[in-house]
Amino acid sequence: MLEIPQLGETLKETRSRCPECLKECEGRVWKSEGEKSKVYLSRSCPEHGDTTVCIASDARFYWLSKGSDDGGCGVGCACSADPLGMDGTLGKNALAAVGEDAGKQPEEVMEVLSTCLALIEIVDSCNLSCPTCFAASPVGVGAKLDAKPLEDIIMRVKGVLKRKGNIEILQLSGGEPSLHPDLLELLDWIDGEPRIDYCLLNTNGVMLAKDDNFLTEIGKRARRGNFQLYLQFDGLQDAGQKELRGADLRKLKKEVMNRCEREQIPVTLATTVNEDNLSHLWEIVEFGLEYAVCRGVAMQPMFLSGRNPENDDTRTPVRRLNTADIIIGCVEQSDKMLRYEDFTPLPCGDPNCATIGYLLRTPLGVKSISEFIDFSQLQGFLRDKVRYELSDLQSCGCENTELGELLHQFEMKEEHAFRLFIKPFMDAWTWDQDRIDRCCTHVIRPDGKLDSFCRYYSGFPDTFSNLKS
Ligand code: SF4
Ligand code: SF4
Ligand SMILES: [Zn+2]
Repeated sequence: MLEIPQLGETLKETRSRCPECLKECEGRVWKSEGEKSKVYLSRSCPEHGDTTVCIASDARFYWLSKGSDDGGCGVGCACSADPLGMDGTLGKNALAAVGEDAGKQPEEVMEVLSTCLALIEIVDSCNLSCPTCFAASPVGVGAKLDAKPLEDIIMRVKGVLKRKGNIEILQLSGGEPSLHPDLLELLDWIDGEPRIDYCLLNTNGVMLAKDDNFLTEIGKRARRGNFQLYLQFDGLQDAGQKELRGADLRKLKKEVMNRCEREQIPVTLATTVNEDNLSHLWEIVEFGLEYAVCRGVAMQPMFLSGRNPENDDTRTPVRRLNTADIIIGCVEQSDKMLRYEDFTPLPCGDPNCATIGYLLRTPLGVKSISEFIDFSQLQGFLRDKVRYELSDLQSCGCENTELGELLHQFEMKEEHAFRLFIKPFMDAWTWDQDRIDRCCTHVIRPDGKLDSFCRYYSGFPDTFSNLKS
């Protein structure tokens, strides 16, 4: 049983969910007293009582959004977010700003928010059976493969393009999207669609490890540019491999990386962080740095949606890993290679929704970005982007800084940046509706409408998948 302190200063009021009945209820975000202050989220369900969970193990890494009062950004933009301790400004509920009072449905709200990343599920089944699968994908290959028709996928993406103008990042997901029989055709269509800037392919890597022809075809498309694999990668340690994926896939993942290196396919390692690999995060970073094609590591604290709620004892206050745990883990394990200042929250969406850090691969070795610039000062520039390139950093006005000189001197390119990206999705325990109301990571649902990733996979009774059944 985790100990929860009783006293604390309220940081903001929000709406949360009861972990037992999953219904919406009033929530309060507050911080504990004392030097090693933590941030908690409490809520009170009229039927099931009070529940509290720690949402930031260190209050220095929790951020309050000021909303869009400056008028310079999109609705709900948090570009003027301040870290706790520097500014105690209370968060503003962006939904009020976009017209909840005018009776907007949640999906209508997503239509007016900025879409930094749009994810579409193209296959419902998978060739693995991970106990932690957020998509709760059933096993199914061959005749049992459940793939969405190509025309349907393209029609839904076109619908979003028509409504939103462009998609900065389109993420193909599943299930296991590499199983889709028309995947290569879809990638060609995406490549020829000028309103889609970049394509990510979520994959467990099995097809890339086992199918030479598939690897070659993906290689051809990757070398055209604007394409990256998001390779599921759970770490190099023994612990937790089978618990996370139902099998030990470490050998297979190394094989995938070796094959991607040969074919020059850019890869981001996508790691679900749990108690087993939390103390091995820097090993993952070091592993990624060994491969020129590896563009970074995306770290996602494990959340309990999809397949997981069945296994979750909802009445036990459980520890939820959070952004602070990951930042502290990375920095402490890195033997001074990384510093806390290398991380900054992304200012689009709610600042607690994504944190980014950079390492630079220079001819002088791997360097932390904060050796060269005050990364936190780039908040305004980082807005509305998930994908960053070094040339972007250069154009932010840092030409006259040490970073600018370094970039210039060594003609550094995209492959010289190694990105650490922390993405804490929410489940009922950590649910803060303020974050949903600013959400910039959207799923293109089967009906073509957009939904927040967190809500789409939440399993809540009032979400799309449950309402339609
Ligand atoms: S997590 Fe990915 S690889 Fe695992 S079952 Fe789900 S879709 Fe398949
Ligand atoms: S999907 Fe969830 S974590 Fe991501 S931006 Fe939306 S609310 Fe935040
Ligand atoms: Zn309840």
